Amino acid sequence: MEVISYSYKTILRFMKNATAAHLAVQSKYLTGFSSLSPAVWRASTITFSSLDEFVARKSRLPDGYTYGTTGTPTHRELEARIAALDKASHCVVLPSGQAAISLVMLTMLKAGDHLLITDSAYGPAHDFATHLTHMGVEVERYDPCIGSGIADLIRSNTQLIWLESPGTVTMEVQDVPAIVSQARSHGIRTAIDNSWASSLYFSPLSLGVDLCIQACSKHMGGHSDLLMGSVSTNDIALHTALRALQATMGQAVSAEDCFLVQRGLDTMTLRLEAQSVKALRLAEHLQRHPMVREVLHPALSTFKTHSLWQDQFSGSGSLFSLVLQDAPLDAFRAMFGSFRHIAIGASYGGLHSLAAFYHAQQQTSRLFPSIQAPIIRLAIGLEDYSVLATELNQSLETFESVCIDSAKSGAK
Ligand SMILES: *Cc1c(COP(=O)(O)O)cnc(C)c1O
Repeated sequence: MEVISYSYKTILRFMKNATAAHLAVQSKYLTGFSSLSPAVWRASTITFSSLDEFVARKSRLPDGYTYGTTGTPTHRELEARIAALDKASHCVVLPSGQAAISLVMLTMLKAGDHLLITDSAYGPAHDFATHLTHMGVEVERYDPCIGSGIADLIRSNTQLIWLESPGTVTMEVQDVPAIVSQARSHGIRTAIDNSWASSLYFSPLSLGVDLCIQACSKHMGGHSDLLMGSVSTNDIALHTALRALQATMGQAVSAEDCFLVQRGLDTMTLRLEAQSVKALRLAEHLQRHPMVREVLHPALSTFKTHSLWQDQFSGSGSLFSLVLQDAPLDAFRAMFGSFRHIAIGASYGGLHSLAAFYHAQQQTSRLFPSIQAPIIRLAIGLEDYSVLATELNQSLETFESVCIDSAKSGAK
C-alpha cells in the first residue's frame, strides 16, 4: 500500500512538473517562429490559471475555450474563415455535413413544432426529419418550386423552413427571396443547405436566410478524404444555442481535419472555377447527344428554373444530372461498367469525377416529383475536359448498343 501511494504521488509530481515544463518549452520555441501554415492545436483538456477561471469557464462560450469538445484555436481560425466566406459573423464546424444538418434541426425544433422541408432536400436530411417525427415534431414536405406559395403552408406552430437550392439530384432552384420574405413576415426561421454552389457562388445569408449549412466534405475539403460540416449565421443567439448543443452532443471535430479544410480553402476558388466551367461545358455537350433526354443543370438556359439561378447565383457547382432515353437497367449497368476515369460513387467537389445512379422509383415515390425516370448524377473533377467528354461519349455508345440489342431481342 505504502509503495503504491508513494509512486502515485511521484507520478503526480512528475505530471505537474511535466505540464509546467511543456508550457515553458512551447512558449520558448514559439519565439521567432512564423509559418504560412495554420497551427494544429489538439486538446481534450483546457487548463485554467485559477479556481475562479475554472469555475466560470462556461461564461467563455460560445467561442472561448472550455474543453476539447468546444474546439481549440485551430477550430476558431477555420470557423472565422468559413464565416467570412458565408458573409456571416459566426460559424460552428461539425464532424460531417449530416451532423450540421441534424444539429440545426435539433437546435431549432421541439415537440409540437412544425417543420417545412423542401421535397428536393438531401436524402439523409429527410431521414433525420422523419426521426424527429417520432419525437413529436410535425414534418411537412413542400414543392421546391413553391416560391411565395409557401405562405399557404405556414401554421401557427411552424418553427423552421428548410431549403436546399438547387435540390440534390434533381437540381430545382428555389425562389429563396420569396420564401424568406414569407418566413420573415411570419417570424419563422429559415435554414438552407448551400453545399452545391458553396459560399463562392451563392450567399443565402445576404438574402435574409438565418442559417447556412455546408458539407465542407465537398468543395472546401476538395480531396475526398475528410468529412466536415459547417453552420454559419449572423444571429448570436442562434450561434450560442448551436455551440451549446454541438458540445452537449459531443460533436467534436478533429484539429487535423480543420487543418485539411484550411488547406482545401487555399485552392477552392481555383478548383471550383475549373470544375464548374468544365461541368457546364460537359452539360452543354451532353445536351446535344441523342441518348440524352434532359440535362439537369441550373446554368443551362433551357433548364426549368434557370432564371432563378441567374437572379441569385454568381456561378455554378461541379455537379449536374442526366436523364437518358428510356432503357432497361442493363443499359445503365453497361454504361457504368464502361467508365475508366469516372469512379462510381456519391459526393462531389474532389479531384476525381464521379457518377451516381438513382432509380426511377426514387423519383416517382417523391411527393412532388419533377422527374419520372432514372437519373445519373455526375460530379466533375479536375481531369482534362477531353478525357471526360470522350469517356462520356463512349459510355453513351455502350448504353445505346445495349438499348438496340434489347430492342432487337424484344422484337423477336
Ligand atoms: C454531401 C452532402 C451533405 C452531407 O455531407 P457529409 O459531410 O457527407 O455528411 C449534405 N448536403 C448535401 C447537399 C450534400 O451534398
